[in-house]
Amino acid sequence: MNAEIIAVGSELLLGQIVNTNARFLSQHLAGAGINVFFHTVVGDNQDRLKSAIEIAEKRSEIIIFTGGLGPTKDDLTKETISRHLGRELVIDQTALASIEEYFKNSGRVMTENNRKQALVIEGSDVLPNNHGMAPGMVLSKDHHIYMLLPGPPKEMEPMFLDYGIGALSLQAGTKEEIVSRVLRFFGIGEAALETEIIDLIDAQTNPTIAPLAGDGEVTLRLTAKHADRNIAESMLDELETKIANRVGEFLYGYDQTSLMAELVKCLKENRLSITAAESLTGGMFQQELTSISGASSLFKGGVVCYSNEIKHLAVKVKQETLKQYGAVSEQCARELAENIAAIFNTDIGVSFTGVAGPGELEGKPAGTVYIGIAVKGRQAVVEKLTLSGTRDQVRLRSVKYGCYLILKRLKERAVH
Ligand code: ATP
Repeated sequence: MNAEIIAVGSELLLGQIVNTNARFLSQHLAGAGINVFFHTVVGDNQDRLKSAIEIAEKRSEIIIFTGGLGPTKDDLTKETISRHLGRELVIDQTALASIEEYFKNSGRVMTENNRKQALVIEGSDVLPNNHGMAPGMVLSKDHHIYMLLPGPPKEMEPMFLDYGIGALSLQAGTKEEIVSRVLRFFGIGEAALETEIIDLIDAQTNPTIAPLAGDGEVTLRLTAKHADRNIAESMLDELETKIANRVGEFLYGYDQTSLMAELVKCLKENRLSITAAESLTGGMFQQELTSISGASSLFKGGVVCYSNEIKHLAVKVKQETLKQYGAVSEQCARELAENIAAIFNTDIGVSFTGVAGPGELEGKPAGTVYIGIAVKGRQAVVEKLTLSGTRDQVRLRSVKYGCYLILKRLKERAVH
């Protein structure tokens, strides 16, 4: 089946926002083996939306809309489609109850136009919205499947993954379950990963393999289809084992996790505390760490030591080290990691020192980064990285590398 995505919203046409919904949906539809041949963007205008629907119906079987499900006057998607298909809008009681509950809990008064959000097109299956108010819906008529999703990505993305993709296969009458799993890799580039598994990618039919790269990470979305969900799951297990046999050392987690979330999980399981001395990352590691709930049980605090003065005064890096080797050096990273762990009395101390760019520092080029890791009872190790990218990318990648290297070091624990 072929799909077309129609993103509704004048902000998109005005260039005020980027159509990330189309990107997200295309990636996931490709992963589920559904071809996307067209992306359309149309403003909040009934006539133009109607003509976009008529064009889409001529060339695509599945038409997915995002946006325009809200309570305001310019939110016209449902109304336009219901009129076009000759189907009434009816109140969905479950959606209405959840909107009423939302207002009750937030102590706000529900206005009449909020009821409008519980209206769905007659004969559609409702897709619950666990992150907002407007429900989504899916329906079929005359060999076409129409799916309506909300505009905000934080509502649309989980709705599509949790309910949308399954509803598509039901509506298509395939009676096949579509099961996906995302494998997350770090420390290996997209090209290198693809090279390692190119024969599996070339041979893919069911399950499919969809690679995606971004922010120094690579993910593989594996998707299997089978009438029996358990069999689809075991098809994924089998493919995952083949992939892990080749590049398993870089596989750090599944689905929506992150390197920091995996690090926090590992530290909690091993009852280890951590602190950080951050120079080029300016507190980014600690900010990411504290964004994970429950971090307080393993993190007391740390230091941002951007200047040499603070590296010496607050983290006790020797003046001779700074003079002889510079702040961007293996020696400085080692002292920072060892000293910060001692000062804060933690099991692990991590340090970040380097050149975020764009210019060079101490004669060292942008992207030169040293990460020190001191684990109690073991010798501190320092990793030198040469990273590419903008200033922010270098800083973000340093933080991710920090997490990755700590996890790696903890895995080696029994050995050294
Ligand atoms: P709301 O209840 O918030 O009005 P809605 O379903 O009516 O939701 P819109 O009003 O069309 O959706 O869009 C709401 C917000 O969602 C936009 O301001 C924008 O931030 C985001 N958004 C909408 N469409 C897209 C898109 N295609 N890609 C990325 N973000 C989008």
